[in-house]
Amino acid sequence: PKYVFDFTEGNKDLKDLLGGKGANLAEMTNLGLPVPPGFTITTEACRHYLEHGAVPDGLDDAIDRYLAALEQKMGKRLGQADDPLLVSVRSGAKFSMPGMMETVLNVGLNDESVHGLAERAGDERFAWDSYRRLIQMFGKTVLGIDGEHFEDALEDAKRAKGVGNDLDLDAADFKGLVQTFKGIVREQVGRDFPTDPREQMDLAVKAVFESWNAPRAILYRRQERIPADLGTAVNIVAMVFGNLGMDSGTGVAFTRDPASGQQGIYGDYLQNAQGEDVVAGIRNTVPLAELERIDKRSYDELLQIMETLENHYRDLCDIEFTIERGKLWMLQTRVGKRTAAAAFRIACQLVEQGLIDEDEAVSRVTGEQLVQLMFPRFADDAKAEKIAQGMNASPGAAVGKAVFSSARAVELAAQGEDVILIRRETNPDDLDGMIASRGILTSRGGKTSHAAVVARGMGKTCVCGAEELEVDVRAGKVIGPAGVTISEGDVISIDGSSGAVYLGEVPVVDSPVVQYFEGTLSLEDGDELVAAVHRLMTHADARRRLDVRANADTAADAARAGRFGAKGIGLCRTEHMFLGDRRRLVEDLILAEGEEDRQAALDALKPLQKQDFAEIFEAMDGQPVTIRLIDPPLHEFLPDLTELSVKVATGDASDDERRLLDAVRRLHEENPMLGLRGVRLGVVIPGLFAMQVSAIAEAAAEQKAAGRDPRPEIMIPLVVAVQELELIRDQAEEVLREVGVEAPIGTMIELPRAALTAGQIAEAAEFFSFGTNDLTQTTWGFSRDDVEAAFFSRYLELGIFGVSPFETLDVDGVGRLVRVAAEKGRKTRPDLKLGICGEHGGDPDSVHFFHEVGLDYVSCSPFRVPVARLEAGRAAI
Ligand code: ADP
Ligand code: MG
Ligand code: MG
Repeated sequence: PKYVFDFTEGNKDLKDLLGGKGANLAEMTNLGLPVPPGFTITTEACRHYLEHGAVPDGLDDAIDRYLAALEQKMGKRLGQADDPLLVSVRSGAKFSMPGMMETVLNVGLNDESVHGLAERAGDERFAWDSYRRLIQMFGKTVLGIDGEHFEDALEDAKRAKGVGNDLDLDAADFKGLVQTFKGIVREQVGRDFPTDPREQMDLAVKAVFESWNAPRAILYRRQERIPADLGTAVNIVAMVFGNLGMDSGTGVAFTRDPASGQQGIYGDYLQNAQGEDVVAGIRNTVPLAELERIDKRSYDELLQIMETLENHYRDLCDIEFTIERGKLWMLQTRVGKRTAAAAFRIACQLVEQGLIDEDEAVSRVTGEQLVQLMFPRFADDAKAEKIAQGMNASPGAAVGKAVFSSARAVELAAQGEDVILIRRETNPDDLDGMIASRGILTSRGGKTSHAAVVARGMGKTCVCGAEELEVDVRAGKVIGPAGVTISEGDVISIDGSSGAVYLGEVPVVDSPVVQYFEGTLSLEDGDELVAAVHRLMTHADARRRLDVRANADTAADAARAGRFGAKGIGLCRTEHMFLGDRRRLVEDLILAEGEEDRQAALDALKPLQKQDFAEIFEAMDGQPVTIRLIDPPLHEFLPDLTELSVKVATGDASDDERRLLDAVRRLHEENPMLGLRGVRLGVVIPGLFAMQVSAIAEAAAEQKAAGRDPRPEIMIPLVVAVQELELIRDQAEEVLREVGVEAPIGTMIELPRAALTAGQIAEAAEFFSFGTNDLTQTTWGFSRDDVEAAFFSRYLELGIFGVSPFETLDVDGVGRLVRVAAEKGRKTRPDLKLGICGEHGGDPDSVHFFHEVGLDYVSCSPFRVPVARLEAGRAAI
């Protein structure tokens, strides 16, 4: 294979092979933009190296050839003593991983060539500054020396001279630093800094390969869901120098504001500086607009290039550039990252400008971004007392009582309190507490800390690294600036979108986008973001083939789902209708000893059920409402076995309670998830399902009589054999006939056997709805309630799966069952309606899969309906 590509040989579509940086350097080269010459070593070579611990055959030769060609083009050899070619060795994977991997600049300098460089440039200081930078970066990146050794030495040099700025160091100072840095290398790794230019380059290439597996890179990939096996490319680029005096410099720029999407001059520039100085915050940068004053010619050229790039990529680009003595060089570009709001706005702006069409615009925004825009925010933080600023680790606005341990968080949450878990930093033992909390606040750690990563995974609000707060877990308090203290139980508010921490309760409001979906904010209100969301959602709706329904158990949820664009209810659970006050009635049913008792209990329940259904039909008039007959783990309706036993044992129990204990014992299950539930309950408790069906039928009949158009669909849960379904179906049909109402009867497919025998089951079912939560549990053998906290973070860490199968459908396993069941079912009954009603119905990646297997609809929580609509549209484009 071809392991090396000159910049003139690549293009932007070769990101898999050349990485984003290499592909775009090639693209810019071919556009005729001023890019220093260079070449790219492919990701394939990297993968080979990582797998075998050695570079593939032929790579060394290829590098020799491409380096020779580069030397020819530049008219000088790498590290040539009197006039050295210097290069940078830069990482660059397919997906950008900012700051995660390594780059070494000024490769090719040594004790001889530093003089040649000084002479050619007519600048001693510059040459020695470049040399010390090489040793510093090489030492850190290639030799693995802690960067602080070098930084401390640099600080010492400045302090010794009584200056604060590295611009005040002269050639002699840098010469001294080169000696010091070499000493550090010798001391830290027991070898001399390699002075052979080619050896420097080869070692740097390998170090870049290896940086793919640096811990922070691994963590970043997991968080961004970037596959672990892509590898990075390596770019060898002729150096250009921004540190050659005040007519030189280096900068970064965006073609438009990545926060708002507004077009304009956005970026930073730093005179007399190299590479990373701009982002490292070594000196204060100036806004890009000032470059016009400093170097008008380069500025005009840069603006011209930015326009070229926007028109060429038809998107926001970000750019790295360097000016060497008045000559502009482009060092990097890519389609830039942006906030969720900017993504929607930019996509619409580009449609307006005629650069892209609406299909393209919809494909450029994601459901995840829409989720970001739907988080609630603080209404008015102006009056609130802001006590600290941390990092905006996971968006949202959370208010609750401060707690300092995971155990307390769980305890208070169980009592119905909203809590915010405050920790110095979290660790896997805090998982329970994080789940129980409204939000998480830490005083240490950045956006890739445990707290941040886990919180984002859970969609939980998190502010991390609020360093002004001193968390004293043992004393159970936080000491903030100006003597503020937070003790357990004090209410605080945290803003995961801005990183702000407030004392007291800040009122929370819906985001404008949610207000738009709710209909409380209209297009006429002139919010540009809302207009963009409206436009792209409208187009997604027009394009999608999947219908979107909602999971809703109450009329209020149904109504909200309707406002969010759901066309019907895909899952109306009936369990909750038995909880609360009605639990007593369920107990009666379970304890009923004879036919008569049982019927009496059922009769008492029915009017309540009927009322529930009537309200939901009304809220979803004219749209299908799929009602799932009761599927509870039975124990949820019964008192706690231990508690009751103690009561009976101590003689405090009433007669009823004694009888109840017998029943609880009788019904106690070791493994309720796999026990007496779903259709099994309908089979075992005669009359239970019939009561529910007749409540549905009568409610529908009454709605019809009132002039409405109810469309009930009856869904039987947890069917594993067609015989179960036939039995219940016969009973249900009889009830429907009696009331004179028609309703399709279908089943959930949520057990592997049901999926595998779907051809038989379809004989008795008019529709299937995939219950992917249970299907995932039973396919993986994971009890969701038990495994997530117990070991999922470890599994994610080890890469056993990249994302929880409860979050994104496991296409290989569970997806296979869905595919098989869909095919077999439709073979038996070509007009079989197919839907999905698990959590996956609102997950972007899963929605694409459901589109692809040809389901008719997805059903998800009301809040996720817009996400599913958008992703279903994107899937169809
Ligand atoms: P990252 O991916 O972290 O941005 P880069 O490979 O882009 O790393 O390089 C780090 C810095 O060095 C950037 O500011 C870049 O512009 C600069 N740089 C890289 N190669 C060269 C070069 N050949 N000449 C001058 N500056 C360079
Ligand atoms: Mg860069
Ligand atoms: Mg289920």
